[in-house]
This record gives sequence, structure tokens and C-alpha cells, in this order.
Amino acid sequence: TSIPAPTVKDGDSKSDDDTSEEQISPAEKSLLQKIIRKGLVETTKDIEIQRQDPNSPLYSVKTFDALRLKPALLKGVYALGFNAPSRIQETALPTLLADPPQNMIAQSQSGTGKTAAFVLAMLSRVDVTKEYPQVLCLSPTYELAIQTGEVAAKMSRFCPEIKIKYAVRGEEISRGSKISEHIIIGTPGKVLDWGQKFKFFDLSKISVFVLDEADVMIATQGHQDQCIRIHKLLPRACQMMFFSATYEPEVMNFAEIIVSNPLIIRLLREEESLDNIKQYYIRCKNVDEKYTAITNIYGVITIGQAIIFCHTKKTASWLAGKMTKDGHAVAILSGDLTVEQRISVLDRFRAGLEKVLITTNVLARGIDVEQVTIVVNFDLPMDQNRQADCETYLHRIGRTGRFGKSGIAINLIDSDHAMELCRTIEKHFGKKIHYLDAEDADEIE
Ligand code: ADP
Repeated sequence: TSIPAPTVKDGDSKSDDDTSEEQISPAEKSLLQKIIRKGLVETTKDIEIQRQDPNSPLYSVKTFDALRLKPALLKGVYALGFNAPSRIQETALPTLLADPPQNMIAQSQSGTGKTAAFVLAMLSRVDVTKEYPQVLCLSPTYELAIQTGEVAAKMSRFCPEIKIKYAVRGEEISRGSKISEHIIIGTPGKVLDWGQKFKFFDLSKISVFVLDEADVMIATQGHQDQCIRIHKLLPRACQMMFFSATYEPEVMNFAEIIVSNPLIIRLLREEESLDNIKQYYIRCKNVDEKYTAITNIYGVITIGQAIIFCHTKKTASWLAGKMTKDGHAVAILSGDLTVEQRISVLDRFRAGLEKVLITTNVLARGIDVEQVTIVVNFDLPMDQNRQADCETYLHRIGRTGRFGKSGIAINLIDSDHAMELCRTIEKHFGKKIHYLDAEDADEIE
């Protein structure tokens, strides 16, 4: 039995659930990026610092030793495999650890080391002689809170006296009891319940407050208000740390409510570029020829991995089904999967268990995975008006500094409209997209 190919008519301008591109929430995107990356994005971009007091000396550290951490904590940092602080860490950490405590707003793209920075600050501020929560960290979702908690657990593995409590769904405490752990990592609703409604801990005794993924936080209905309500119950002297991957006016307005007198640190984003990418297009008559092209490409991938982008999840699952049936090991990532399933798909792909990952746009930014050498556009990216989506093209294909080594992009063209998109993209970036004969896929190596 053959699997019928999806029929997406070229003139189709209306999109329904099956054919539309997938939308996933900012929180899910952020989590996927954390999972697929698991390595530091190294950047040479400059740090921009705005300080409240222009006379205050700002210094940065080149080593973790220079931070004068507790030895057991330093040992934990090294055990994580961190040899030297990242760009954002070298600037942020001295301030985060300084006495008297300083408030901070820090912004840099995900993967640059923000979490590790504030977790280190959180751990080093704990006074283990006091058996109540002193450090509070808010994350937008359950999964992101767990990610942060795992970093904290690893970093503090030689400090077993530091205790951490998750305030997330599924965690229950009996009425009338008190939390004795030093650090609470949780989501706003649960923290508000535990701190204000049930008084399981005293918000007025918190001395370090971390608001992580602020841009994701404000994208979630109700979270911003909850954060502000929590913030109002904190003592004046509480050190405020505010982190965000982006720097839009809404984020900064939010930051201003939460953080007074901050030191503001921004790490400029490393631009993606197509400079070291060889771009090709292959002419196909129909979707079956596209499939043949894919199998030819699959045959020549000897090193590295490939990601194939489809416009709809219908096409993605059709392609995955057909390839699997033909004996190829492929992974598929789509919005249909649960969070756990997505994590496991990405973990397996990163570990190299599958050579090919088929996905829709859920992963457009974040394919900075070193092993990925070939990106295939099974469908060219387009917006709702069926115009070329050059930005998404760049996110799919482009590479930043660290991953600046060469890569290959292949666009499968099966209609005049697709050819038009391809030309538009070529013109937009001023970079040639070369013709590749479908029969000669091994030319690409
Ligand atoms: P962000 O919070 O900005 O997204 P993370 O703190 O999660 O960034 O760090 C991204 C990745 O880099 C993580 O896998 C983390 O373990 C790693 N990492 C962080 N700091 C360092 C460092 N100084 N040296 C090496 N790897 C690091």
C-alpha cells in the first residue's frame, strides 16, 4: 500500500487547521531552543551597559575563580564543564554577587548563559543557617522552571545543604505547613498561591528575586499581573534580577515596574548570515519527485545531519511516514507532540540517533546544531499571503558566528509559484541559489 501524497493546491490561499503553518507559544519556542541547543552560543558581539550611576566602577571577570565563590560552589561550576564565564556572565556576575546587592536587567539571546549566571547568584546568596525561603525565581512555565531547577541542582551538587523547592503544578503542600527550603523556583500562579493565599512561606523574607524569560512571561495571559502582585509583597531591600532574550518596549516597561535603579546589560545579537552556505534549488514536477529528490539527498549524507522543513504538518507527517516505510531513520517534530515528546525527539536527534529531522516552522530559529550540515526546504517559506518569507528562510538556513562553517541549503521547487518565491529570496539576500540537477544530488558533496 502506498501512502497518498498530500494535495495542496497551488491556488489555495485560505488555510485551515491541516494546511496552515503551525503556531507555537513563545514559552514552547524557548523550551525547544534550550533543549536543542544545550551548549553555549559564543558570541563576539559587544556588550552594551547602561548604568544608573556613571561613576560606579564596573568590572568584569575572566575566570570563575576571580568571583571568590564558596569553594564547593566553584567546584560545582567546573563540574558542569564551564571553564570560563561567557560574555554575559563575565559582566553580569560581579554585579550580581556584589555587596551591597545591585539590581540588574540583562538581555541577551537564548543560549548565551543567562540561566547559569543567575542560578550561580541565587546559590551564592543562600544563608543555609536560615531554614526558610530566601531566594525566589519565577519562570513562565512548568517546563522552564524545571530546566532552571536542574541547573541549580547540578551546580549545587557539592553543597547538599542548599535545598530547592519547586512551586509548580503537581506540587502540593498540606495546609498550615511552612516551606523550609532556601530556594523556590516556580510559576507565578503557584507562587502567589503559596506565598499570599496559603502563607506557606513569607514573601517579605525573600532577599533575591529572579524574573526569568520576561519576554515569554508577558506573552502569557495574566502572568505579568501575577508577577507584579508578587513583587509588591517583596521587601524593599530585595535584590531584583530581570532576564529577557529580547528587548522590546513592552519588556522594558515591565522591567521598570519590577526593578528600580538597575544596571542594564545587553548583549547584541549575533546576526545570522548566508555567507558560508551553498544554496541550491532542484526542479521537481510534483510531490513524488520531491520525494525522490529527498531520498537522493538522504543517500549522499555521509557525515552530519539534515533538517527538512515542510509548510504543513500534513506534509511533514506524510514525508516522515513514507521515509520510515522506505527504511530511513527519521525524526519528526511537529506541534502535535506533547512537550515531553518534543524533548525526546530533539534529544535523540542531537545525540545523532536519526540523521534526518522533519519539521514545520516550530523550529525555525534554533537549528544552530553543529552537526546539521544540510537544510532542505521541502516547501519554501511563505507568509499568509503566499509571499516569500525571507526572514524565516534566513532563520532556517543562516548560521551565526560559532556555526560559521559551511552548510548546504536545498530548495525543492515544484511549481511556478515556488520558483517565484525562490527568485524573490535570491534577490532579497543578493546571494545566488544555484540550479542542481535532481539526478546529480551527489554534486552537493
Ligand atoms: P540562557 O539562559 O541565556 O538561554 P543558559 O544559561 O541556559 O543560557 O546556557 C546555555 C548553554 O550553555 C547551557 O547548556 C549551559 O550549560 C551552557 N553554558 C552556560 N554557561 C557556560 C559557560 N560559562 N561555559 C560553558 N558552557 C556554558
